[in-house]
Amino acid sequence: MNVFNSLTRRNGELAPLSDNTVRMYTCGPTVYNFAHIGNFRAYTFEDILRRVIQFNGFKVKQVMNLTDVDDKTIRGANAAGVALTDYTKTYKDAFFADLKALNIQPAEVYPAATDHIPEMIALVEKLVEKGVAYKAPDGSVYFSVRKFPGYGKLAHIDFDHQQTGARCAADEYDKENVGDFALWKAWEESDGPVGWDSPWGRGRPGWHIECSAMSMKYLGETFDLHTGGIDNLFPHHENEIAQAEAATGKEFVRTWMHCAHLRVNGEKMSKSAGNFFTLRDLLAKGWTGREIRYVLVNAHYRQGLNFAFSALEDARKSLERIDRCVDALAEKAAGAAPAAEAPAFAAKALEDFTAAVNDDLNTPKAFAALFELVRESNSALASLQPGQAAAVLEVFRRMDSVLGVVFFGKAAKAEVPAEIQALLDERAAARAAKNWAESDRLRDAIAAAGWVVKDSKQGQSVSKK
Ligand code: AMP
Ligand code: ZN
Repeated sequence: MNVFNSLTRRNGELAPLSDNTVRMYTCGPTVYNFAHIGNFRAYTFEDILRRVIQFNGFKVKQVMNLTDVDDKTIRGANAAGVALTDYTKTYKDAFFADLKALNIQPAEVYPAATDHIPEMIALVEKLVEKGVAYKAPDGSVYFSVRKFPGYGKLAHIDFDHQQTGARCAADEYDKENVGDFALWKAWEESDGPVGWDSPWGRGRPGWHIECSAMSMKYLGETFDLHTGGIDNLFPHHENEIAQAEAATGKEFVRTWMHCAHLRVNGEKMSKSAGNFFTLRDLLAKGWTGREIRYVLVNAHYRQGLNFAFSALEDARKSLERIDRCVDALAEKAAGAAPAAEAPAFAAKALEDFTAAVNDDLNTPKAFAALFELVRESNSALASLQPGQAAAVLEVFRRMDSVLGVVFFGKAAKAEVPAEIQALLDERAAARAAKNWAESDRLRDAIAAAGWVVKDSKQGQSVSKK
């Protein structure tokens, strides 16, 4: 499996350091608001990544942090007049519901920053002991970027043109303003009740130290893979490297991967620009999580993706095409065991699919292989034996273990309660007899029980309202 490593700026083999498990850290949400679909572009990219790793037979240990203390969460909680933990809980809960709605596999660990303050203080103490961090007159502790020779290696910063000695307390800044960054921020009036005692007085951790401390706690001092959106690369990830490597003297992370932004009219989708849709906005407009996931994972993760409603419409049509094919295959297979060998066209499609995902997660090519399978299946359908149809379905399943869009939501079908199934059977009989009034009456009865019937050429399907 080959991926593009932002550190070396080259494609390289991704293989775990130990026990067949890829240890992976992904920068998670700042829980001060609902995540927007730009954020979910990053989380779906990471989901595809972990699924491709598993597709290749490795295990994954993924850690995703929840930033529940920073400038934005504190501002939000204090403005709302509620405790920080109460304020962030709403958005943590919403985030997990959204992940589910997008069929994103859960990470193994979701550490919250506020549960790891002692680990962060210990790391800052270590950096102070080593002489790479110092307490400034304002009571905050800063990392001295000049003391870490490797500073700039991820973002490829030309240091000769940088001014030195400046200090930056904000969590985010640009390459033109490189300066010493805050590891620990002294308490200020605007922090209100938020703060922890430390060897440097009351205060709170900087955003960057949070990820270094929690990643090393759960994944070790050197681990395989670290990911995020491209905006995380500098300064956040650069600072994470500096903090971790200055403290341990060891390589922090072997492979770094970053996804390009989701844009709107050519501009990065972001809260501050106000050009965003939350997942909830789109669900309320009648789009499904499955359709939104399809749009997000369809583009190559390193290519910019412009959000447009026409892409959702295309996704809806493409998914209907996939559904028709898969339903027809299922009908043909009629519960038969898969044949030992899949038809040649299916084996070829799987081979192309595998090559695509192992070539730096080339999802556009992977989808092309999936649609090749749809096309070939449709034309071969009449001549397929049930066992062969079942074998083709297995290939769809294998592809979908990575894409997560083909069978997404279909499980509900298998869980249709007996009484609903009885109504469905009655309705199928009514329709066969062209008794449309009875068919409509049964549809209403099914709806009253909380289920929605959809009719297609392959017959009726049902899903929960
Ligand atoms: P934040 O909550 O702002 O810390 O962002 C959470 C994650 O979403 C990070 O990995 C960001 O890099 C990523 N992100 C934010 N905006 C976008 C966007 N428009 N497109 C893709 N990823 C984004
Ligand atoms: Zn982070």
